Amino acid sequence: MTNMRSRLADLPHGRITKTFGRIYLETKGNWAALAQRLQGVFGIVSVSPVLKRELDLDQIKEGAALVIQDTPGQTFKVEARRPNKAFPLTSPELCNALGGHLLRNFPHLKVDVHNPDFVLNVEIRQEGAFLYSQVIPCLGGLPAGSSGKGLLLLSGGIDSPVAGFLSMKRGVTIEGLHFYSYPFTSERSKAKVVDLATRLAAYNAKGSFKLWIAYFTEIQKALQKTSYPTLSITLMRRFMLRIATQLAEREQALALITGDSLGQVASQTMESIHVINAVTTTPVFRPLIGMDKQEIIDVAYKIGTYETSIQPYDDCCTVFVPKNPATRPRLDQVLEAERELDVEGLVSEAIAKTELVQLKA
Ligand code: ATP
Ligand code: MG
Repeated sequence: MTNMRSRLADLPHGRITKTFGRIYLETKGNWAALAQRLQGVFGIVSVSPVLKRELDLDQIKEGAALVIQDTPGQTFKVEARRPNKAFPLTSPELCNALGGHLLRNFPHLKVDVHNPDFVLNVEIRQEGAFLYSQVIPCLGGLPAGSSGKGLLLLSGGIDSPVAGFLSMKRGVTIEGLHFYSYPFTSERSKAKVVDLATRLAAYNAKGSFKLWIAYFTEIQKALQKTSYPTLSITLMRRFMLRIATQLAEREQALALITGDSLGQVASQTMESIHVINAVTTTPVFRPLIGMDKQEIIDVAYKIGTYETSIQPYDDCCTVFVPKNPATRPRLDQVLEAERELDVEGLVSEAIAKTELVQLKA
């Protein structure tokens, strides 16, 4: 309910109340705009515009006719619930009375109790009769902020925003961490990530988003000089996870989140993931692991990040991609390669120079 309130803050509406399994929002006639907003709030399975009438059969009949007027379909059935037992008609009696009324007034309609085009729902409650037929599906999931905090490794690509969205769907509050290698990557690529994070903010608890920009330039420079060029992506990913692990600990995030999808690129084979993951004991969530690219794109499109993600940009990973990145890196070789590097020094420098950008949806 708090998330609903913050999502609807700038639209006029009445009280938000709840009963078992239901949340009621009183509208001022602008239900369509409110419903559209609520479609982006995790935890809500569906939204239905509801008409309220007095507990009087004639008024309920008139309301039923109004509700189904805008509902497409030829066949229907009536379903009644009567938590308020003081109402004189039983649920079957009410169904009959309303069904008959609708058949008399809408000659094109037929009753089909097994496979109707729509259902007219009537609930007889203490406060009145509630009537609805439309059911608008929403995101489902768990309410934002109901699980712990996670740190999303956010690039400018298609995948990581989707990974963030899917984590938020299960109630995770996310903060973002972007590795920025200026001047190897441009100011524009940073602006792109800020744009993506702002879009994700809409789904986050309180509509806010903390984006950490980690200074990755020195690490890139050091990796350019490595005598193990085929391992440079593996080494770079290990740096990313080390930095993310320390930042997560500082920010009290309980998991890291990445946009890896198994086998998509060299650094996302099982062998690569195994070697990269070896630098951390913090759980790493990979919500896209079993998704094909097209499935990921479909979600990106739906959540409004796709258009931004496909803008051309230079990611720190695309700048120095070796000709033949190792698809099966071995841990012993990677450890040998890291002996050339001041791993701890580079990591603490990157963390010390990390900046916070505070974003609002
Ligand atoms: P994406 O579309 O999310 O960039 P990708 O298919 O391009 O993914 P990679 O570039 O291999 O795959 O990146 C794998 C994951 O590593 C990303 O999903 C993201 O979580 C993380 N990552 C990559 N580059 C960065 C970066 N510059 N800053 C933060 N995280 C990054
Ligand atoms: Mg990428």
